[in-house]
Amino acid sequence: KKPQEKIQPVVTETVIEPVEPPVATPKIQKPYVLIGAGTASFAAAQAIKEKQPDANVIIIGNEEYAPYMRPPLSKELWFSEDPEVAKTLVFKDWQGTERNTIYQDVSHYEVIEDASGSDLQTDKIKLLLNKQVAKLNVEDHTITLADGSKIYYNKVLLATGGAPKSLPGQDGKSDKVTTFRTVNDFKKLDQIAKDGAHIAVVGGGFLGSELAVALAKRGEKEKLTVTQVFPEEGNMANVFPSYLTKWTTTRVRKLGVDVQTDSAIKDIKTDENNKVVLDLGNDKQVVADHVVVAVGIEPRVDLARDAGLEIDEKRAGVVVNAELEARTDVFAAGDMVSFHDVQLGRRRIEHHDHAVLSGRHAGENMVGGAKPYKHQSMFWSDLGPEIGYEAVGLVDAQLSTVSVWAKATAKDTPAAAAGTEAESPRSAPNAGPAGETTKAVASTNPFKDEKFGKGLVFYVREKQIVGLLLFNVFGKVQEARDIIDAGYTTEQIDGLLKKFNLHED
Ligand code: FAD
Ligand code: NAD
Ligand code: NAD
Repeated sequence: KKPQEKIQPVVTETVIEPVEPPVATPKIQKPYVLIGAGTASFAAAQAIKEKQPDANVIIIGNEEYAPYMRPPLSKELWFSEDPEVAKTLVFKDWQGTERNTIYQDVSHYEVIEDASGSDLQTDKIKLLLNKQVAKLNVEDHTITLADGSKIYYNKVLLATGGAPKSLPGQDGKSDKVTTFRTVNDFKKLDQIAKDGAHIAVVGGGFLGSELAVALAKRGEKEKLTVTQVFPEEGNMANVFPSYLTKWTTTRVRKLGVDVQTDSAIKDIKTDENNKVVLDLGNDKQVVADHVVVAVGIEPRVDLARDAGLEIDEKRAGVVVNAELEARTDVFAAGDMVSFHDVQLGRRRIEHHDHAVLSGRHAGENMVGGAKPYKHQSMFWSDLGPEIGYEAVGLVDAQLSTVSVWAKATAKDTPAAAAGTEAESPRSAPNAGPAGETTKAVASTNPFKDEKFGKGLVFYVREKQIVGLLLFNVFGKVQEARDIIDAGYTTEQIDGLLKKFNLHED
């Protein structure tokens, strides 16, 4: 028995010996996981890195490209002279500066191939592409990829954007019908345009209107004709007051688009000549070689819903508080977030600048900030070289409006060509009862002159100015923002006009 008692301490010693001092092991931080490789995630990643340069940040996206901006896909890329534009994705902005649609080349990231890369030590932002996030588990602090692998997160950002809605009869016709959201959609449509075709664009909102005009512009040099079909009375009818919708529609027609208003699509079929047929009911139809469906998006909230997060069913977004947090350590930004606008109440916004600002803000709050999201984002749209507008706040055709117009000079167009056209005031501000669009221009017929010119549309809710559309008025977004934030009322519009120099050269 005695020899056995002596062996034990020896064994214990050999077990203890190999243990290294704990300081020698490098500690991998649990990552900040950003779901969706779009604008909001890109902005969040940058904000996190600015605040905490050694942070472990992973962007996970199901597309094959590094984060990119979508606005040029329906505008600038179509105006490029470069036949290789679908490869380079380079465009010129209005200032003439060359930019790439992709924010930064993949070489700026640490590209990882799978979930195991989340442990990798690097100073770069990690990028995991071509991967679908299938599950969010907020109790375990994990996300699960479609291949079943898991990543533990420190904090997570939901920035999954939205999926294009589809029309009846569209399924299974992807060779004839395209929704339009991604770089690959652009590449596909660019090739169809090059081959020459009659393209029908369905939808009269932002995307349909921009694309119809862009395709018609391309049609000047290629064998391309464009028909635009939608149920409203004119282009941008859900945003613009009725008179401006009608005027804009005449301009879109002049740019070469065959605009068919008051036409809802009942069904999409193909015929024996390999054409695609839009059935508009009442024996009306549009026959085309290809159809682009631009009928809005559905925010992608399934991950959040399955994780038990609250969904704003009215606005179809994930509910977050003013700090953009849905639950402890779970944030959301961009198109899919229903947030509390401190000034205007609960909102969901589907625009680029909001994706940038909310993404940045969420990123800052993820690394310890606790500030409310108070930035009043803007958006812009261009319909060809002569019409451009920018807006702040709630711009909805359902609200009552007060408009002020002046004749535009040549420099008031997006193209901003030099010119000396004389200006003349169009109409005075004129507040109307809530819920009814004012006839602000009824006294001075906007169609009398060829051009609507430049103007301001104030959107009003219970006398308070809640939105401002700057039509061919540029460089005044901050002034508009200040007006919304100050909560001015319609009585104060006269005094506010001087901020915009509307009647000056
Ligand atoms: P997105 O940019 O849509 O990014 C979300 C990403 O997440 C997508 O890549 C998606 O594939 C990915 N994803 C989704 N679910 C998962 C998942 N489960 N796993 C992995 N990845 C996932 N706004 C303007 O203000 N001005 C404009 O001129 C303008 N032009 C536009 C032109 C076009 C053609 C389009 C489509 C949009 C335009 N917009 C414009 C709107 C603007 O682009 C969007 O508001 C913005 O892209 C929203 O950013 P986001 O990051 O929220 O979503
Ligand atoms: P939208 O919500 O602006 O417009 C939807 C349009 O769909 C409506 O105008 C309507 O005409 C049409 N529509 C709906 N149901 C229809 C039906 N059954 N038949 C025919 N038409 C029907 O959405 P969108 O124009 O598709 O744009 C997609 C997304 O991209 C949106 O989030 C939008 O904000 C964004 N986007 C923004 C800009 C910009 O800010 N300049 C530009 C392009 C796209
Ligand atoms: P800005 O330059 O401050 O931009 C506002 C937001 O839009 C920022 O988040 C910025 O990152 C983003 N942004 C700007 N240009 C972009 C682009 N081409 N693609 C994607 N994102 C872009 O504000 P601004 O000077 O008022 O211009 C806003 C937009 O309106 C720009 O796209 C500009 O090209 C366009 N625009 C400008 C004029 C003009 O004459 N200044 C005319 C028509 C349209």
